[in-house]
Amino acid sequence: MIKRKVVLRFPASVVEYPFIYTLAKEYNVVANILKANINPRKEGRMVVELSADDKDFDAAMDFLQSRGVIVLPLEQQVNWLEDRCTQCGACTVICPTEALWMKRPEMTVSFNGEKCVVCEHCLKACPARAVEALYLSGE
Ligand code: SF4
Ligand code: SF4
Repeated sequence: MIKRKVVLRFPASVVEYPFIYTLAKEYNVVANILKANINPRKEGRMVVELSADDKDFDAAMDFLQSRGVIVLPLEQQVNWLEDRCTQCGACTVICPTEALWMKRPEMTVSFNGEKCVVCEHCLKACPARAVEALYLSGE
């Protein structure tokens, strides 16, 4: 069994195709949508957690890629720049998954990329620009 968080990027030409339905029906892939930004006739982006048997998962990835969908591993998407961080703690208050968290009793901020769902709350909250979403510039 594979369980993996990924970012799916849909070209505008296929953005209205029912990918999540097809993944479930044809490939037995359970998709837990964590975040989605889909608009008619525009490129779309979705953060999902996909669960499936190994064989089904591989077949589903082949299907997505054959339709022009780009699949990116989620852990590459958010980068915490420790050197820039002033340890103000603002991000740890709003982070919904405790990916950014305050280590106690040291009271130092840490980042666990495994827990990050790329909601981008911390990007807006951070006064030091110490968190960056790599997919914004890296694609
Ligand atoms: S993007 Fe969201 S989940 Fe990830 S560290 Fe920032 S606030 Fe937390
Ligand atoms: S909001 Fe920015 S500067 Fe403050 S603790 Fe979080 S990452 Fe560091």
